[in-house]
Amino acid sequence: MVYFIGAGPGAVDLITVKGAELLKKADVIIYAGSLVNPELLNYAKKDCKIFNSATMTLEEVIDVFVSEYMSEKIMVRLHTGDPSIYGAIKEQMDLLDENKIEYSVVPGVSSFCGAAAALNVEYTLPNVSQTVILSRMEGRTPVPADEEIAKLASHKASMVLFLTSSLIEQLSVKLIDGGYTADTPAAIVYKATWPDQKIIKTTVSQLAESAKENNITKTALILIGDFLSSEYDRSKLYDKTFTHEFRKAKES
Ligand code: SAH
Repeated sequence: MVYFIGAGPGAVDLITVKGAELLKKADVIIYAGSLVNPELLNYAKKDCKIFNSATMTLEEVIDVFVSEYMSEKIMVRLHTGDPSIYGAIKEQMDLLDENKIEYSVVPGVSSFCGAAAALNVEYTLPNVSQTVILSRMEGRTPVPADEEIAKLASHKASMVLFLTSSLIEQLSVKLIDGGYTADTPAAIVYKATWPDQKIIKTTVSQLAESAKENNITKTALILIGDFLSSEYDRSKLYDKTFTHEFRKAKES
């Protein structure tokens, strides 16, 4: 069995209990060395075989699983954050299917949640935005035309961009073309939840300058939207005049 495990955004204690328990039992671990905190490998048994996928191809990863496969063995594929977001897990699953190797996914805390925690913010503020857009700017990996940054920006929703900090030069123009104002708040969160985490608060028009001043070109998320400012309406859920399934209004 192969377990695709979300390692969390960086801090060692942000992996799930289930993920950590499987790491302790694993016979083989292939981890995404470019982003997974290597301290997580301290969970591994002495005789666990450990591979860093940063230097491996898809076929090499699958070859390890195929050659190590035995029905009772626990094999782990350790991905940063949550495996379902830019994890390239589908292509691994398809090849494991071809090789009749079973797998299961253990979710993780995605870095976009780690970044919100670092900033003490809520993406879904009443009357500000009830939608979170997770996307990236087109680089070497193509993005469908309907998901072009300016189109996504037209919603003026809360937005989080992965894999974009090296492409930040053209970003502000696209965001403003799409609909955000130049002074819409933005933030760059570098290595959210890691000991060397950096938070840069800026605006849409200043994004590229802020990244340059702070030498940020990778391992960062770009957050955009009015959820980063302080104007909002309180939620209905805890409003004393609002009745819902579990609580009657106390006043009207
Ligand atoms: N599956 C991961 C994302 C992998 S894509 C997740 O759920 O978080 C890799 C990109 O994620 C990086 O280029 C960066 O944009 C972002 N990223 C991953 N970890 C990060 C962290 N701790 N802080 C900021 N950005 C991070």
